[in-house]
Amino acid sequence: MTARIVIIGGGQAGGWAAKTLRDEGFDGEICVVAEEEWDFYERPPLSKASLLEPDAALPRLFSEESQATLNLNWYRPLRAVALDREAKTVHLSNGESLGYDQLLIATGGRARWPGEAWAAHPQVYTLRHWQDAQRLKHRLAQSQRLAIIGGGWIGLEIAASARKSGVAVTLFEQQPALCMRSVSHEVSQRLAQIHRQQGVDIRCGCGALELEDDNGQPVIHCDGQRETFDAVVVGIGVSLNLELAQAAGLRTEQGIVVDAQGRTSDPAIFAAGDVAQHHQYGLCIQSWAFAQNQAVATAKSMLSPEAAGYDEVPWLWSDQYQYNIQILGIPQKGSETIVRDDVLFFSLDVRGRLSQLVAFNDARTVKLAKRWMAAGRDLSDVPLADPAFSLMSLR
Ligand SMILES: Cc1cc2nc3c(=O)[nH]c(=O)nc-3n(C[C@H](O)[C@H](O)[C@H](O)COP(=O)(O)OP(=O)(O)OC[C@H]3O[C@@H](n4cnc5c(N)ncnc54)[C@H](O)[C@@H]3O)c2cc1C
Repeated sequence: MTARIVIIGGGQAGGWAAKTLRDEGFDGEICVVAEEEWDFYERPPLSKASLLEPDAALPRLFSEESQATLNLNWYRPLRAVALDREAKTVHLSNGESLGYDQLLIATGGRARWPGEAWAAHPQVYTLRHWQDAQRLKHRLAQSQRLAIIGGGWIGLEIAASARKSGVAVTLFEQQPALCMRSVSHEVSQRLAQIHRQQGVDIRCGCGALELEDDNGQPVIHCDGQRETFDAVVVGIGVSLNLELAQAAGLRTEQGIVVDAQGRTSDPAIFAAGDVAQHHQYGLCIQSWAFAQNQAVATAKSMLSPEAAGYDEVPWLWSDQYQYNIQILGIPQKGSETIVRDDVLFFSLDVRGRLSQLVAFNDARTVKLAKRWMAAGRDLSDVPLADPAFSLMSLR
């Protein structure tokens, strides 16, 4: 019988796992080891409302009252520093140890830096935690010129928020196109067009970047040009917090390898959220939906080995200017992208099956596309690009 479950990580996946364990009737002890001092909160608002609203509050996952009913034993702000799998014990940064019957690793990731000089400069920022958003918001209010390093989703969202606040933005991306790893060339082009229309100076395919300091102001040296900014935000991706799992000898690849039930190579240890590798796609999805739903499925499996497990196609969204952009699925090598009205981007694999849909302000078609994907529908003969053709006729 499971008497104590320990969750490492007080983020979105940790929070949903704790709630699900209680919702499913677990009445044993739940301990949460959390490096941050805050209650469970969501990160998506950090690059959006939290930067724009002067009095934005912590985007809590659950109200204070709902969280209190979960009856959790918090160990915070503390780090889990090592696992002893034989003794089923977690060692904490204050020297304490915590035994477990089952363990969930939900440690997420940390923002990557291009180098030490960048991390040491007081006007160079990353955005991962609540206090990062507070610092950045404060600086944006005093800035006229912002440089963003990295043209991925976070960089683009920060660009949109900064432009809404009237700050001039220069975005440096070393790849030839924006969000290149996650969407087709056609979508990258559309994103660049939207941002350029809003006045963002996009420098794709830029050369190596160097940081200098000019009396406390960051200066970026690139392709023979030297430009001074009020602030620089680095959004070049995340290093997953895999060290605990690796040191304990759990199987890891891009992330912690888990099955559909979220179970790692140790049957008493589970993993959820950004650190858990999608059991079918072999990738760490790093999205809000995965952090929530895979954690919910994993928590259910911790209590009942017969639970159905996680079975969802990768899905994430991004809000930029007036656009809600939804990204369903992952583009496959060799897939062809069919564009409809500059709003829907269908990527079909060689067999005509939908491998990815990117939709700008069209949640309805995303819903429909989920069904096409689940059914493996052949769309090769469907006139997807024709605006006169009703997609709803394919319901
Ligand atoms: C700025 C921003 C905007 C985003 N916007 C979107 C969006 O629009 N759409 C979308 O789909 N996704 C978005 N995401 C991604 C989404 O927020 C993440 O996928 C999600 O937060 C992952 O949840 P998690 O619980 O796995 O990890 P996290 O939320 O990172 O939580 C992990 C927690 O574990 C703690 N921790 C780490 N190591 C230890 C340790 N050893 N001991 C104790 N605690 C530890 C960390 O400090 C952290 O609090 C965004 C992310 C960011 C940063």
